[in-house]
Amino acid sequence: MSHRYTLFFRTLLIALALALAPLVAANYVLNNYAVTQAQAEMTAIAERYVLRAEKAIGDAVSILQNLHQGGTVTCAPVDRTAFHAGVVSAPFVQMIGVVNASGVLMCNVPEMPTSGEAILPVLKSDAPLVGIGMRDRAFEGTRVALVSWRIGKGNRLLAEISPVAISIDPGPDYLRAHRLVELQLGDGVVWLRSGETAQRDGHGESDELIAEVQSTKYPMIAVVTAPASAADNLVRDLKVVAAIACVGFAVLFVAVGVWFSWRPESEAEDEFVQAIRKGEFVPYYQPVMDIETGRLRGCEVLMRWARPDGSVISPGAFMTFAETSGHIFEMTRQIMRKTCEEVGDLYYENPEFKLSVNLFAGHFEDRQVIEDIQQIYGQSKIAFQQIVMEVTERQPLSDMETARKIIAEMQAIGVRVALDDVGTGHGGFAYLQKLGIDIIKIDKMFIDSLGTDDNSTTIVDTMVELADNLGMGIIAEGVETIEQIERLRELGVSAAQGYIFAPPLPAKLFIDLAQALSGGRGEGEGESDMIADDAQVA
Ligand code: C2E
Ligand code: CA
Ligand code: CA
Repeated sequence: MSHRYTLFFRTLLIALALALAPLVAANYVLNNYAVTQAQAEMTAIAERYVLRAEKAIGDAVSILQNLHQGGTVTCAPVDRTAFHAGVVSAPFVQMIGVVNASGVLMCNVPEMPTSGEAILPVLKSDAPLVGIGMRDRAFEGTRVALVSWRIGKGNRLLAEISPVAISIDPGPDYLRAHRLVELQLGDGVVWLRSGETAQRDGHGESDELIAEVQSTKYPMIAVVTAPASAADNLVRDLKVVAAIACVGFAVLFVAVGVWFSWRPESEAEDEFVQAIRKGEFVPYYQPVMDIETGRLRGCEVLMRWARPDGSVISPGAFMTFAETSGHIFEMTRQIMRKTCEEVGDLYYENPEFKLSVNLFAGHFEDRQVIEDIQQIYGQSKIAFQQIVMEVTERQPLSDMETARKIIAEMQAIGVRVALDDVGTGHGGFAYLQKLGIDIIKIDKMFIDSLGTDDNSTTIVDTMVELADNLGMGIIAEGVETIEQIERLRELGVSAAQGYIFAPPLPAKLFIDLAQALSGGRGEGEGESDMIADDAQVA
């Protein structure tokens, strides 16, 4: 059970990781993209402001320079006509006038009332020809810029630049609502401030994006700031798409993962666990015959799944699952317990009978099996000396040294060990000696070709010789014909099992057969024997 839950949660975690990883990655990439993109847009905005401002200032300067060169620098009507022409020629110059040394506006064209005090650049002897100032009046955040041109005796020509000159496209939608633009002159005077966040004082907050562009011609800088969250707007839709896609993937992964790890296995395993709990796995008994005397030597216990519907399933259909899931350990204990209940009396009456139980490679990895054997057969009517444990050569043993110790412990209490399917698998003859095997079981494969194939005869011959030399018993498996029995006799094999004698039988049939072979013990006698046996055990 726990194995299944572990698998389920592992699958769930992997599925979530598989789904979340792209989400995290997508968010990271999108965030980076958004910031880079926003930063680039903001720099472009700042550049546009600087360029427009430079162009407006440049236009004003060249007009004033031309007027100065043409000598039109007074408030005389001719000069004012020239001023007028200047205003008309430059779209963003909205007024031209003359200012005296004390900063008083002497005349201006067109003659409109000027409002807001003019902040003119300080007039110093070493001041540059061109000065840039502001009128102390803002229209929607933009002030009127003043460009002055020195004409001697402290007098200056003055041009007013319309705020329209720098009222430009404030950038893409996603930034428009959040960005703050400031166009500053070198001395900190703000020409233009525009944007939602104009209320926030200062910038440089950690989650703020800033782009600054400095004019190369005038002491002027454009600063665009926006909260990082504004950049997020750019990719918000994509993030939603990514999240939906990832959630979709997660659901898909989880569904697929759950399907594979939980559903089919849970159905199969629930059924299996139920079957174990209900004791549906039962022992069948295949007789092992002495082919010299015709007497019964004992049996091999073979597991069957007796389903409630009456069907009987062979191990081929469930043994791999039982072994890989680990259920086989409990199933083997159940089988062993049942043999005590079912054939305990028979074995008690026939102390020479052997009972072979199949183990798999996993049983030879720790001592648990020794404890199981001691616990189950220690208090039963079947003696340790009657028990044979079979280990197959088909599966490799993971740890030969541990297996050898476990086998030695079995032998120490009187249990014998048989190597099953000899000649088919991993061990070869090396196994026999290393593991200290008592009995070898010759696989059906070699028995099948006995008489038809000379090689087989030779192999069986070799096995018999080897078994004799090592003092091991030998049993032929899968014997189906009289000819095979005869060949085996000739080769010196005395024990055999196979369909020619009997298939694996349910307990009742096996006991009947055993009693028939040993001279026909009646039911009644069996009953009285059992009572006698019980008395002896007690
Ligand atoms: P195995 O241990 O080699 O058992 C012999 C198999 O050959 C049995 O198949 C038996 O029914 C079959 N057999 C016996 N005589 C003849 C014959 O004359 N002709 C033919 N064609 N077949 C014959 P079964 O019962 O289906 O078992 C298959 C395998 O499942 C066993 O092979 C054994 O490896 C495994 N197994 C059975 N019971 C258990 C068990 O309780 N525990 C473990 N771990 N494995 C088991
Ligand atoms: Ca076997
Ligand atoms: Ca076998």
